[in-house]
Formats: sequence, C-alpha cells, structure tokens
Amino acid sequence: MQTLASDVSTLHGIGAARAQAFAKMGIRTLRDLVYTFPRAYQNRGFVRALAAGESDLPASYVLTVAAEPRLFAVRRGMTLVRLRAFDESGSCEITFFNQPYVKDQFHTGETYRFWGKLTRDGKGLQMASPQYEPYAEGVPLPALVPVYPLTTGLTQKLFRACVREALALVRAEDDVLSPTIRRRHGFAPLSAALRAMHLPDTAEEAAGAARRFAFEEMLLFAANISLAKVKRPDKGAPRMADTDVSALEHRLPFPLTGAQKRAIADIAADLSRGDGTAPPMSRILVGDVGCGKTVCAAAAAYMAVKNGYQAALMVPTEILANQHYADLAELLAPLGVRVGLLTGSTKASEKKALLRALAAGELDLVIGTHALIEKGVVFAKLALVITDEQHRFGVMQRAALADKTAVAHMLVMSATPIPRTLSLILYGDLDISKIDEMPPGRQRVDTFVVGESYRARLNAFIRKHVEEGHQVYIVCPSVEKKEDDEEAGARTLEELLERSDERPPLKAAVDFARELSETVFPDLSVAFVHGKLKPAEKDKTMTAFARGEISILVSTTVIEVGVNVPTATLMIVENAERFGLSQLHQLRGRVGRGTAKSYCVLVSDAQGETARRRLDTMRKIYDGFRIAEEDLLLRGPGEYIANGDTIRQHGAVSFTPRAEEHGGELLEAAFAEARTIIAEDSLFLKEEHRALGALVHTAQERSANTLN
Ligand code: ADP
Ligand code: MG
Repeated sequence: MQTLASDVSTLHGIGAARAQAFAKMGIRTLRDLVYTFPRAYQNRGFVRALAAGESDLPASYVLTVAAEPRLFAVRRGMTLVRLRAFDESGSCEITFFNQPYVKDQFHTGETYRFWGKLTRDGKGLQMASPQYEPYAEGVPLPALVPVYPLTTGLTQKLFRACVREALALVRAEDDVLSPTIRRRHGFAPLSAALRAMHLPDTAEEAAGAARRFAFEEMLLFAANISLAKVKRPDKGAPRMADTDVSALEHRLPFPLTGAQKRAIADIAADLSRGDGTAPPMSRILVGDVGCGKTVCAAAAAYMAVKNGYQAALMVPTEILANQHYADLAELLAPLGVRVGLLTGSTKASEKKALLRALAAGELDLVIGTHALIEKGVVFAKLALVITDEQHRFGVMQRAALADKTAVAHMLVMSATPIPRTLSLILYGDLDISKIDEMPPGRQRVDTFVVGESYRARLNAFIRKHVEEGHQVYIVCPSVEKKEDDEEAGARTLEELLERSDERPPLKAAVDFARELSETVFPDLSVAFVHGKLKPAEKDKTMTAFARGEISILVSTTVIEVGVNVPTATLMIVENAERFGLSQLHQLRGRVGRGTAKSYCVLVSDAQGETARRRLDTMRKIYDGFRIAEEDLLLRGPGEYIANGDTIRQHGAVSFTPRAEEHGGELLEAAFAEARTIIAEDSLFLKEEHRALGALVHTAQERSANTLN
C-alpha cells in the first residue's frame, strides 16, 4: 500500500532519473516530498490588463488566442513558436523559445491565463515563454501557485503534480501533533495544513499552516533533545584531583587571557568535584571566532590525561581535525601526552594500530571526526569528551561519543554566538563558560559591502594582497545551481505584499573559480574547494593554502569552521545576501588572525530593504554576540536551528518558510509539550504519540548512521 513512507518512485512519472533528482534535494519518501514546502507563491489571482503596459514583474493576463500559432526555425537547434493573443484592452505577441510542441497546444479562440513579464519593443507588447493554464469563465483557477525549490531534472509543473498526488495519501495517523496538542494551540490537522501550505487560497491561510509546521519542527527537535537529557547519567563521574595545568601554560607562546583562565578554572572545578558520585561536567564554552577556545580544550584534555584517563576531541570536518591534531600534538606531546588522529581518510593499517592503542590505553588523547563514534572505536578509560563547533553536531552524536564509556565529562565548544534567549532553550542542560575577551592585539577586520560594479577594483585589491605575500579567501554560496526561469517571478508571502527583489542571480562557484584562474588571475595560483571534493583532496588544497603555495582559495562554505591561516588577509563573500549574519561573521573571522591588516568584502547586488540592512549590520558591528542578537531580530531563531544542521539531522525535514517569525515563544511552547510527552510516555507508546515516536527514532538512527 502506498503511504507517506513510500518511495517517491511510486508516484506516476517518476523513474530512476527523477527519483535521483529528488534524492539530491533530500527527498526520498512521499513524506519528504509533502514536507518540502513552496519557497514562494506566485500571485496569479490579480489579473492585469494588457493596456496597463510593460512591467518589471511577472503577472497574470487572461488572453484569447487570436490566430493559430506559427513555428519558426531560427538557427540551428533553435525554434520559436509565436502567437498573438488579446484581451479587452489590447493585444500582444507571445513567443516560446525551444518549445516546438506548444504550437499544437493553442488554438484560435481559446482563452488561457498566462503568467509572465510584459515588455515592449518596436512592434508592440511582447511576452516571452509565459506559463499558462486553460481558462474558463466561472471556473476559478488557484490564485496562489506554489514555487518549489528545485534541482536540475525537475520542473515546477512536475513537482506540483507529484505533490498533489502525494497529498491524497495523507492519513490522520500520520499527524505528529496529537489532537490534544492541536486543540491547545489551535492548529489544523495534518492533511488540511499540508493543503494550506501547498495549495493555499490566501496568503494568510499558508501563513497559518506555516506556523503549525514550524511548531511541529520545533517539537521534534525538542523531543530529541529532551530524550537525550533523560538518558544522561547524573552521577559517578570520574574525579580528577590534579587540575594543575601550569606546565601547559609555560609551553604557550602567549599568556592566557583572563577569560581563558576563567574558563579553565570552571573546567577544573567541574572535573575535580565530588568523590565519584558527582554528576559529570556538562559545559559549553562559548566564544567568538578566534578567542582561543582550543587552548582551553587542550587544558581540559591535559587534566584528564594527568589523572590517568583518556580524552577525545571530536570536530566536524577533516581539515579541522588535522589542524587540531598538529597544534595539540605539538603542545601536549612534550608533556607526555600521547596524541592520535582518526578521520575518514586514516589509512586502514594506521587505523588498526590506533584502535588497538586506544583500547589498550596506550593513547591518551584522540582527535577526530565522526569516525570516532563508529562501533569499532573502543576506549580503555575514556573520561572526557570534547566536541568543537558544536552546532554542527546533533545532540545524539555528542551522546554517541559519550556512550563509549560509563560516565564521561562533556565539554562543548561553540563559536556560534547564540543569543541568550535561544541558548537557554538549546543548551539549557549545559553550564556555560563565556570567553568574552579576545587575545590582545587582535585587529578588527574592516568590512565593506560592494556591488557587482566594483568588480574591477575588487580584482585589483585581490592582486595587491597576493603581491604583498598574503592569501585571499573567496566564498560562494553554492557549487552549481541554475535558477529556474520561474524563480524570477517567484514571490514569497512577504514579497507578495512588499514587492522587492532581494535575490540577485546566484554565481555558480565552479564557473566563477574557472573564470578567476583562467581569465582574471592566470598568473596567480588559484584553487577551488567545495563540499563534493574527496576529503583528502580538500585537505591537500587547504594545506597548500595554509603554506602559502596557493594564493587565492575559492570555496563554498566548507571553510566556514575553524581553519586557521594567519597569513590570509582578505575574505570576499560572493552573493553575501544568501548567508546568515552569524555565518558571515564566522567567515570574517577566518582573516585578521595574524599581524597584517585584514579586510572582509561582502559582494551583493541585493536591493531589498532587509538584505541591505542585514549586510549593513556586518559593516557596523564586529561583536559576534551583538550580530547574533541582531540576526535574531531580523531573521528569528530559524537560522540557528536550521543552518546548524541540528534540526535536519533530527527532523530530516526542512524548516518551514517564515518559521522564524514565530520565534522563541513557539519554540518554548514546543519544548514544554516535548517535556510533557517524554515525562509521561518516553517510549511513545500511546496511539497519539506514535507518529512523533516514529520520526524521533528515524532521526536518531539517521544521526547515528549518516554523519555529515
Ligand atoms: P577559536 O576560539 O576560534 O577556536 P583558536 O583557539 O583557534 O580560536 O585561537 C585563535 C588563535 O589565537 C590561534 O592562533 C591561537 O594560537 C591564538 N591564541 C589563543 N589564545 C591566545 C592568547 N591568550 N594570546 C594570544 N593568542 C592566542
Ligand atoms: Mg576553534
């Protein structure tokens, strides 16, 4: 029987190739599909008259075909279909490019609702490749037409048809929200809410449903976190009496900042408390990029090792693992700490030796990626688990590593300054040490926002930095993505009201990198890293960049976390409007780590009010916490949750459009509900909790199996 759990390939017209395209968007099941919400809606309900003339924005026109369409072969491989159509106020010429089949679709006297942009040339009004639906007097067409995020191989038309087909399969028992919860918060049942998202009659209807799905998402997230909290042991933490790290301090080329000292003292107090019956340390170290969290982690690890225990440091990327390994081995090995590295590309023979040493207690500190939580990794006496850049990990992954031993102390480090309101909810179970002080001499990275018209000057600026012996980062938002035609006409709910164009065309990173290396800087060494590269290749490039053998590094956001290249002095972010402010702040933190003056240039042609204001924030504010607060005001908590991957890992569904508007209040309500459910039915056995339970379990499996 076909259910929401069925594969998308069970839909009409979906073969292997299209299923593959869906999979690329993370859509495997029909549930994934119906939970992929429109990224915008076209307002086709308001019909313009041709007499209103040309316009920059696409709109609806109800037109009657004046004469049979004609097909022209223009040049080799290129066809045009032309037809004239009219309404009461005038007529226009409609042209379809390379769609010869449309010739047979239109006949004289038929009426259609067209959606497109009206332009004017010497011959009069024109419309190019509009979308169209047959129109009959008295038979209403939907006013709002959904526009989905797409990938190559899928069209809006196909996507819409698939969604319609899948919507018919939604059953009451699929609802994650119990009737009790729905009643309490005034939410519609699943099937009605899904319809309202995909096929709304009004913008308000879609917005109401979006609120429900935002809540659902948050509930799932909350349920996962609450469950993890339930599982945590609360006593029996190994006691570490000797917390003297002065030997380590002596090895540092700099004095610790006051904030670092305080954080290390907090850690020492946690690790040394009690007599074996105290709860383990559960601490998050929050501090802006570059504030020096790594040293604090090293101190914690050193304490564990001094007391005869093992420590593990888990980081989200291989590059970061390598870097931490190099730094920490240099710092700690002379103190007698045996340090190992384990990542996805550790050679089989090395891995075997390392695993053996870990199990035998012959290694004291292991640094690695998710590879650390694989089953085969066994510790002799693990007592401290440190995770860096925590927002990249799910709560479950933290827990998975801690599960390698009876009771482990846990230290989480985060460079994402999370606004207070949200951190209480997300990390309510953790004690917080804030590193609110930068190492002395740290300079401020001057930030500029420029448009495409500055390109030539920008290239000269890049060249200047390279010629002075420095390195340059250029970050682009995505590897390859063609915006589909319809996207140009897409309107978000908000934009339906405020018609502003916030999305200038996206630069494809691949093409851009090629152009830079072949045309603009053929004499300089330019490299390109992106998420699809094999870790080993990525690492090779990063290492070469760190050594100065590569001058310009074009990348997608893979470099976002943690990398330390003190000679890099210029960070350029293309299509900067596409990034979250905190993400931009992180990127900016990649430069200005050495002594040379550093700059960050945000390239954006976004015209919209919100986009301009956001980018302006980056120019004016340099404190990560204030940026985070500002971002929360402008965009809401969605970014922290959705971009942090946490929610994706747990919920396996994406955040709903405008979910952020609902903000902290909804999140708090979701946490309250989750706590209630878990307190009374932690195994989700009650009928009304089944759907939620199933999702929570899937999410947990996913985060345990598929990592990064
Ligand atoms: P983050 O908090 O972003 O992880 P790191 O630990 O990578 O920051 O530190 C950033 C840089 O600052 C490193 O090069 C590190 O050696 C240096 N650093 C750390 N603490 C100090 C300090 N107290 N004084 C001077 N430099 C420091
Ligand atoms: Mg770091």
